[in-house]
Amino acid sequence: MGAMQSLWNDAEAAACRTDLELRAYTSRLLGQDRSLVLHGGGNTSVKLSVTSIVGDEEDILFVKGSGWDLETIQPAGFSPCRMAHLLKLSRLDSMSDAQMAAELKNNMTNAGAPAPSVEAILHALLPFKWVDHTHADVVVALTNTPDGEARIRAVYGNSLVIIPYVMPGFELAKAVAGAWPKQAHAGTIGMVLMGHGIFSFGNTARESYERMIALVELAERHAGPRATPTGPVGVSAAGDWPQIMADLRKAISDVAGAPMIVSYHADARSLAFARRRDLEALSQQGPATPDHIIRTKRVPMLGRDVAAYAAAYERYFDTRGLREGAALAGCRAATPDLVMLDPAPRVALIPNLA
Ligand SMILES: [Zn+2]
Repeated sequence: MGAMQSLWNDAEAAACRTDLELRAYTSRLLGQDRSLVLHGGGNTSVKLSVTSIVGDEEDILFVKGSGWDLETIQPAGFSPCRMAHLLKLSRLDSMSDAQMAAELKNNMTNAGAPAPSVEAILHALLPFKWVDHTHADVVVALTNTPDGEARIRAVYGNSLVIIPYVMPGFELAKAVAGAWPKQAHAGTIGMVLMGHGIFSFGNTARESYERMIALVELAERHAGPRATPTGPVGVSAAGDWPQIMADLRKAISDVAGAPMIVSYHADARSLAFARRRDLEALSQQGPATPDHIIRTKRVPMLGRDVAAYAAAYERYFDTRGLREGAALAGCRAATPDLVMLDPAPRVALIPNLA
């Protein structure tokens, strides 16, 4: 991974005819960098004044809608939410995920737009026209250390507001509403959510985007180069691996209730990780940011026992519920009774399969 670089291009930016097109453009620039945004993660917004068909002028938050990926987002991928209502919602004492999802959808100016991001109220609260949010690997890596807050302070001084970990959704918006007046000042250019990700703000699309790049670059310089993984590579073969893969695919598909595709990574980096002595401790702690849960499930499967993995997943759902995944998936939060997603693993670590 090289140094972070701004991908801003004057000609491409000039071709954007509206602020919303520009919002989509710089969102795609963020989405192109895998170290910032993975598979539909991250979200962005812009606050615009819009005149309705009957001549009313309203402040609207255009925030990334669910089902759209920053890498390919177009203006139609942004949900137009009424700012005034979002700010009133932020002053409520509490609201369920289901109520919030319904309120967000009911207060858009385009009924055909996608459901707004679960982080819409949070975007509304930030007093900047342009807001960019990513789950940048390096920032999450720094926050997820025992002295994470001190390390973040060492990197950024007091130019960023820092929020302790709170699950995405209304509670997180409330936490930001409470912390903002205490921490923010004229020099505030961003915000770190511990265990989650980073925000940058700006008065122009370019300023907000390039601040994100600069903030992540600072964290990379602080973190230093990534360690090259080492480990025992090229040991025992596990017999007939094509057969093992076929059996694994069948077991996972049965538990998932749909045909699944299994792909196999046996490069040195993957093997070195899968063969670490501390693999269980490292891999079973949960993801770096809640955003990853949607794609990876809470933990990878160790070995090949799909039935045991599924049983453990069901126990987890019963005891804790899957609020993280449900809230982030947006649409699921609209159902008052949470429905368990399929309990099949999405990542398996099998040390001796090579
Ligand atoms: Zn996020």
